[in-house]
Amino acid sequence: MNTYLQQSLQQHFGFSQFRTGQQQVIEKLVNGQSSLAIFPTGSGKSLCYQFTALQLPHITLVISPLLALMKDQLAYLEKVNIKAASIDSTLTHEQMKQVMTDARNGDLKILMISVERFKNERFRQFISQIKISMMVVDEAHCISEWGHNFRPDYLKLPQYREQLNIPLVLLLTATATRKVKFDMASRFAIDPQNIVQTGFYRDNLKLQVLATAEQDKSLRLIELVRQQEGAGIVYVTLQQTAEKIAAHLSKNGINALAYHAGMVDEQRQACQNSFMDNKVDVVVATIAFGMGVDKSNIRFVIHYDLPKSIENYSQEIGRAGRDGQPSNCITLANLDGLTTVENFVYGDTPELTSLAAVTDDIKQNSTNGLWECQINQLSTASNIRQLPLKTLLVQLELMDVLSAKYAYYADFKYKFNVDQQVFIDKFEGERRIFIEHILNATSFKKIWGTLDINLLQTNYQCDRARVVSAMDYFAEQGVISLETKKITDVYQVVNLGDVEQLNQQLFDYFSHKSKKEISRIATMIRFFELDSCLSYQLARYFDDMNAPEHCGQCSVCLGQPAKLAISQIFEWPQDELIITAVNQLIQQGDAKGYQISLPLACHFLAGLTAPWLTKLQARKISGYGICQHHRYQHIEQKLNSLTTQFLRSLS
Ligand SMILES: [Zn+2]
Repeated sequence: MNTYLQQSLQQHFGFSQFRTGQQQVIEKLVNGQSSLAIFPTGSGKSLCYQFTALQLPHITLVISPLLALMKDQLAYLEKVNIKAASIDSTLTHEQMKQVMTDARNGDLKILMISVERFKNERFRQFISQIKISMMVVDEAHCISEWGHNFRPDYLKLPQYREQLNIPLVLLLTATATRKVKFDMASRFAIDPQNIVQTGFYRDNLKLQVLATAEQDKSLRLIELVRQQEGAGIVYVTLQQTAEKIAAHLSKNGINALAYHAGMVDEQRQACQNSFMDNKVDVVVATIAFGMGVDKSNIRFVIHYDLPKSIENYSQEIGRAGRDGQPSNCITLANLDGLTTVENFVYGDTPELTSLAAVTDDIKQNSTNGLWECQINQLSTASNIRQLPLKTLLVQLELMDVLSAKYAYYADFKYKFNVDQQVFIDKFEGERRIFIEHILNATSFKKIWGTLDINLLQTNYQCDRARVVSAMDYFAEQGVISLETKKITDVYQVVNLGDVEQLNQQLFDYFSHKSKKEISRIATMIRFFELDSCLSYQLARYFDDMNAPEHCGQCSVCLGQPAKLAISQIFEWPQDELIITAVNQLIQQGDAKGYQISLPLACHFLAGLTAPWLTKLQARKISGYGICQHHRYQHIEQKLNSLTTQFLRSLS
């Protein structure tokens, strides 16, 4: 036993001993060995870096995926008197400056940021002047394309580590398959000997898979929820299902609320608070719910629809029973929902023409080797949804086509809170001239004015940075109210190369990615139909070889392995209906200048979304989603067979 470490633990954190795995990780780090820690959620991963940060000479930089998680950890660090701060969008200009000064002066032990912060060139400039002892990557599985929650920006972290000369790395995650584990470690050159993994298996979770026909699910759910004690989460796939099922539960006397990404922020926050404060028993949620929900006494998690993958499943059931008390994890399963889950994958796969639209934009619209991009706008122009578009941009960076420079706000809107003339009269000399030019470059509509920075720069020689900090300063002083909008990312175009070849490469990348997603779904179905202990197999899937072979409480151990079936056979709508629907879509498209392609018509019939379908208000066209119960490829085949019947070819 290392008594020094133990004393230090007592002194700074008030714990008398380390939890499983913690000391092992900390010893590796203080010996200068980068490490990967795989601990289940709620078992003290964060202490590994918090403790180590105190032993290191310089600052520890923590990359965290979620603002709420950062704020929780900062609150804790403040409680135990460790100087820590974050740089995030909620800080005022003044607070931000303070954090940067503290970091420069060596007054901070821990600095937390989101991975997106690195996109900002000004931040990169700042951080490159700071001595950093350790980089910590929370939710590190996001770096692996084999993982379930791949975040393209994470792929750039090893590069940043090198550029910033950070000697030590700690990766933290709760879930990783063997493949993901080694992938993560190798990207940061972590010796496999320095992977510390505690058991994945949790003996207080009772896993049940109940084969249930689609039409019986809602009744079954009521029965099941009534049998449970305490609070729980019901997971569904679609936003409208969350609403429907929450209403259904409420009607049956169960205190339930819906939660999904389509709700406004305040509503979601209110729902989360009610759940934390035990004011609501059941939250019916899409996967949007969970990260950052730290409630220890969740007694049950029910999957009303199939999860997206085994990784998602394990993460979602992992929210139950953090207090160690027995908790139920029930999945209502049939194969009907499979089509929906699979079709979602196709919904996020860009077409070749869309990829070409992006590379063409880069080619046509870059000036002096710089290319500016607003995600919203580009998403609409190229018909690629935002998440895959972000993946695409990172791919282009990794392929050395682009290099991120900085980001800025395109729109500056402001209004005066004091008399304009009184304000101007406070300034003299050059500063006064500068401010008068700002006013001259602003077009006021009644109260609010929009500043045209380009116009300002044409009339008066000044840095963009100066304008931005002046506006920030006035806003801080309260003399103006400032609204900034439309974040614009600026990239340097390194080398586009052969554009056609590039487009094809990108297309292959996305096709390969969707194949992987589809096979992940197949693996999950095989898991639910297993005839050996579910808890044991789940632990093995996450490379925990020490779980008991029979948990004695899962549905298989209790003699009820599930056989999943399709409970409803869906007839195809009549060809006439499909033809009419697609022709209407084509007409709408023509009217508004969008050329409808075959994949887009497929999206439309499958009830999927795409930026152009949103623009065309496709949901309102009759026939939207009429093939939603059919597989994407079958819809494609159907359209191909009807190709001569359409107003124009679906190129
Ligand atoms: Zn079992």
